[in-house]
Parts: sequence; structure tokens; C-alpha cells
Amino acid sequence: MHRPQWDDVSNPRARIAIIGGGPGGYEAALVAAQLGAEVTIVERDGLGGACVLTDCVPSKTLIATSGMMAALAGAPGLGLRITTGGNAAALLDAPRLYARVRSLARAQSGDVAARLSAEGVKVIAGTATLAGPRTVVTGDTRLDADAVLISTGAEPRVLPGAEPDGERILTWRQLYDLTELPPELIVVGSGVTGAEFASAYQALGSQVTLVSSRHRVLPHEDADAAMLVEDVFRRRGMTVLGQSRAQSVSRTADGVTVTLSDGRTVRGTHCLMTVGMMPSTTGLGLAEAGIDVDERGFVRVDKVSRTSAPGVYAAGDCTGVLMLASVAAMQGRIAMWHALGEAVTPLRLSNVAATIFTEPEIATVGVAETAVTSGAVPDAVVVKLPLATNARAKMQGFRDGFVKLIARRSSGTVLGGVIVAPRASELILAVSLAVERQLGVDHLAQTFAVYPSLTGSVTEAARKLMQPAEDADWGD
Ligand SMILES: Cc1cc2nc3c(=O)[nH]c(=O)nc-3n(C[C@H](O)[C@H](O)[C@H](O)COP(=O)(O)OP(=O)(O)OC[C@H]3O[C@@H](n4cnc5c(N)ncnc54)[C@H](O)[C@@H]3O)c2cc1C
Repeated sequence: MHRPQWDDVSNPRARIAIIGGGPGGYEAALVAAQLGAEVTIVERDGLGGACVLTDCVPSKTLIATSGMMAALAGAPGLGLRITTGGNAAALLDAPRLYARVRSLARAQSGDVAARLSAEGVKVIAGTATLAGPRTVVTGDTRLDADAVLISTGAEPRVLPGAEPDGERILTWRQLYDLTELPPELIVVGSGVTGAEFASAYQALGSQVTLVSSRHRVLPHEDADAAMLVEDVFRRRGMTVLGQSRAQSVSRTADGVTVTLSDGRTVRGTHCLMTVGMMPSTTGLGLAEAGIDVDERGFVRVDKVSRTSAPGVYAAGDCTGVLMLASVAAMQGRIAMWHALGEAVTPLRLSNVAATIFTEPEIATVGVAETAVTSGAVPDAVVVKLPLATNARAKMQGFRDGFVKLIARRSSGTVLGGVIVAPRASELILAVSLAVERQLGVDHLAQTFAVYPSLTGSVTEAARKLMQPAEDADWGD
């Protein structure tokens, strides 16, 4: 155990000040309070942060409805008659959907507030700045702390020439104030956020055009998974423009025009900009407090969330380490364990499970296939099993999906996996557990899976990996 960084015998309760009440900040606060510290969070917008109020929670709530719409679109194939004249969008009550999204987010924020209050965490509503490494100022209040955590999150990146106006040219944070479903939605950007919203709005009934500057959607994800999802997008009627860089977006009388860098134009009623995130770190007083940031403004941290200033930690999107709520929360907890002198395991990103909530979902964990093919991870094998032959998939009426497992060739240790399926986010846990606990393919293969189930394909893929290499049918 290392020593905490203060030594005030007159006050045995360490004072922790946290800027930002998103997952990075509030999960840290809970840990610090549990360890007996006196904790204050300063939050300017609402507890739960952008995660709960505008980003993760609202988008997944919207996707719960779009997932239902996608299921209904497949209903005739399962023997149901939908009486909307084939027009799925006729089922949608957009104002009610957006009202549900907003109220669920508020309720979730309220739950976070109640939990923090029950743990004795003090919350100040306001904007905070640093007046020195261990001093936080908000309004007339000055907080002198033994340790400070910066968890201020990030903001949608704005492309010059495509500034959002909140009516027709939108960031994802402005979608839920609309009163209608955008009839023709142009989504600029085909990373995770762009792909998720394109998928959701297509299912809800918008005519979607996805503008991607890269040769395929989701360029940083498993290639098989990304190509499958792109194929599904196209088959469902989405226009996907690859290698098309948006240069500007302008309003027309009744919609928007997106001008591409090669001069082509795309017209629609609304445009959603998903071109990345910028850290919310300007004006915080970081430089004055001796806290290093990178060239884009992200706070530099080490694997126990320390910044360059003693006693100052940072967690979450403002560090740009891996922009996931689960990672923000873990960085925040690690910061507090470290600051309060607890034993702490440095952040490990290799085993983070993540999901792209398109339809179907893409869930991944551990080593990626590209690391195997590039030679970065030697002595590894990959097996991919399509779900089209899985009995449960047939019963549920879907064909688009697969299970991919990656294992150490010599030892059989499970290194990673990809699942593409409806609710892949729920199915990946078995693979995550295997990766985390360094289980072998034999452990997975010998585990009972329910028949019929999609997880049966996970154990089947593991059985394939148990075959001697020369007999195995690697890949598809
Ligand atoms: C559309 C979308 C969908 C996503 N879906 C998922 C998902 O499904 N799963 C997942 O794991 N992740 C998801 N993410 C990522 C996830 O939302 C972020 O990783 C997470 O919000 C990061 O948490 P945070 O605490 O760092 O920041 P935030 O949640 O952004 O919270 C930071 C808070 O700090 C406050 N703040 C900023 N500056 C100050 C200041 N000076 N004073 C006081 N308060 C301040 C802000 O108001 C904000 O409330 C999604 C992101 C987006 C954009």
C-alpha cells in the first residue's frame, strides 16, 4: 500500500473535490465516500453527466424503441400481420418517444443524486475552475482539497462550415428536442455514434444517408462485423456514401444541403453531425495549476489517473483514454483508491468489453483479429461461426450475425472475441469472463449452453478451436 498524499493529523477525513458529475466523477465520489473521505462534487448541468443526460442513456433509450421497430419490420416473416399498409413509420409517436427519452434520463440523473446523497456526498450546482492544484472555486465557494479529480467530459466536435443550429443541423444532444422524426436524415460521420444513430433512425422510419469519409463504416472496428453491418444498412434502404468527406452543411428553405469535398451535394431535411469529441477542458485553469494536456486539450494521465500535478487526478472523456462510461468510472475509482492510499491495480484496457448498438449489435472484447494478422499477437488462431445455422437464430428470424473467437494456438487460452447479433451486448459476457480469467477454449467448450440459444454458438466456436490445427476449419 502506498502512502496517501496528505498528512494532516488534525483532520483524519481526507477532503476530495471533484469537478464533473458524470460516471468518472460520481463513481469516484462513491468510492471516496465509502473510504470515509469528505467528498464534494461540483456539477454544472446535472448529476450523471452527459452520459446520463444527453449521450449514452438517451441514445440507448431511443435505440430500445428503434430495436422494437426493427423487430416489427421482421414480424411478417414470423407470421404476424402488421396493419399499417407496410409503413412502419406510421407506428411511431415521435413527441412521445422523445418525451420518454428525456424523462428517463432525468429519472436516471435523480437516481444518481439520491445515491450520492445517501452516501453523504456534497453536491454543488455550478461551474468550477481551479485556483491552484488543490483548490477548486465555484461562485463564491472555495474548496481546499487534499486531492482533486477532474472529470469534465467532452463536447461534440464542431466542423467549421457545419455549425449546428439546433433545428436542422444537429448534434446528437439536440435530437431529443425535435418534435418530429426527421423524414430525410443525413448522418455525417460513420464512427460508433454515427453508425448507431443511422441504424436507429433508419429503423424508426427516416430515410437515412450516411456520409463516411472512410472506405467503410466503423473503420476502427472488426472488419467482418463492420462490413456485415454496412451490408445490413444498405439492404434496409440506407444510402451509405463511402470515401465522402463532408466539407460544409448549409440550410435550405426546407432542409439542408451537405457539400462534399469533391463538390457533390447531398440533400435532406435534417443533418446530424457525429464527427468526434473535444475535451471540456478550456477555461478550467489547468495550465496555471501545472496540469499537462495534449495538443487537442485532453488531460494527460498515467494508469492510476494521476495528472502531472501532485494531488490532481483526472478521469473519463476529458482524458481521451477510451471514451466509454465503464472506463470513465474505472478511472475515477482508481484515482480515489490511489489518492486514499488503497491497494490499486493500474487501468488495463485490454479486457474492456464494448458494444456498438447498431441493429444487429457488435460486441467485442480482448485481442482484435487485426492484431493477429499484423503479427502483433503471435501464436494465435481465429475461428468465425456464422449464426445463420444456429437454431435459435432461425426461430427468431435473423441471419445476419456471427461469433468470432481468438485463442492462443499453443495453450488454447481465450484472447478475444466478437459477437454480432441482436443483443450481442448481453451475450459477450461469457467471452469477457474467459478473457479476464484467462480461461482456455476447453473451459468454454465444456460449459453447458442452453439449447436452443445463441450462446450455443459461443461454445461451438470454442469446440472448433479445440480441434488440432491441421483439421480445423479456421475462418469462414
Ligand atoms: C451518443 C453517445 C452514446 C454513448 N453510448 C455509450 C454506451 O452505450 N456505453 C458506454 O460505455 N459509453 C457510451 N458513450 C460514452 C459515454 O457517454 C462517456 O464515455 C461518458 O459520458 C464519460 O463520462 P465522464 O464522466 O468522463 O463525462 P460526462 O458524462 O461528459 O460528464 C462530465 C460532466 O462534467 C460537467 N462539467 C464539465 N465542466 C465542468 C465544470 N467546469 N464545472 C462543473 N461541471 C463541469 C459536465 O456538465 C458533465 O455533466 C456514449 C457517448 C455518446 C456521445
